[in-house]
Formats: sequence, structure tokens, C-alpha cells
Amino acid sequence: MISRRQLLSFISVGVLVPNAVRAMSHGGTAVKVEESDANAQALKYVEVSEVKGQNCANCVLYRSSDEDGWGACSALQNNLVAEKGWCIAWAKG
Ligand code: SF4
Repeated sequence: MISRRQLLSFISVGVLVPNAVRAMSHGGTAVKVEESDANAQALKYVEVSEVKGQNCANCVLYRSSDEDGWGACSALQNNLVAEKGWCIAWAKG
């Protein structure tokens, strides 16, 4: 797990920018994040959390969506992550 300060630093140095550009290029439509996505891998995102008590659904960066079981993650350009997922940017929501 990383701290919120580390997360903000991570974002500010532009590690996640390429995905934002890609999101804009397809009209900003949220897509399901694949574990194989470079930005997801940078955050060590997995669709099923192995960390007890921590998952996307209880992360402060998660917002529910119309897609059952999936929600928007602000660390991944508001693309959709699995509510049972997890990454190193998890922060208590
Ligand atoms: S930042 Fe939170 S909502 Fe986004 S992938 Fe990581 S744990 Fe899930």
C-alpha cells in the first residue's frame, strides 16, 4: 500500500498520463481495466484482492457505476475496475 502523498506524487509525475490520453482519444468512454494494462501493472492492480479488508469497493478512489460489479477508479482515469479488485494505491474510503 502507498500513502496518499505517494499516490499524488505518482500521478503528478505523469506515470498515468498516457492512459488519460488514450481515454480521451476514444471519446472519454470508460473501459474495463485489464490487469495487463501498463498503468494497471504500475499500480499492481488485480481483479480479485488478496489483501484482507481491502478492495476497490471500499477504496476512496472508487465510484460505483451502472456496470454491475465494476466502478470508476480515479487513479486509472476513471476507467472501470472490479469492485473485488485491489492495487497499491488503495486508500480507506
Ligand atoms: S485505487 Fe482503489 S479503486 Fe483504484 S484500482 Fe486501486 S484499490 Fe481499486
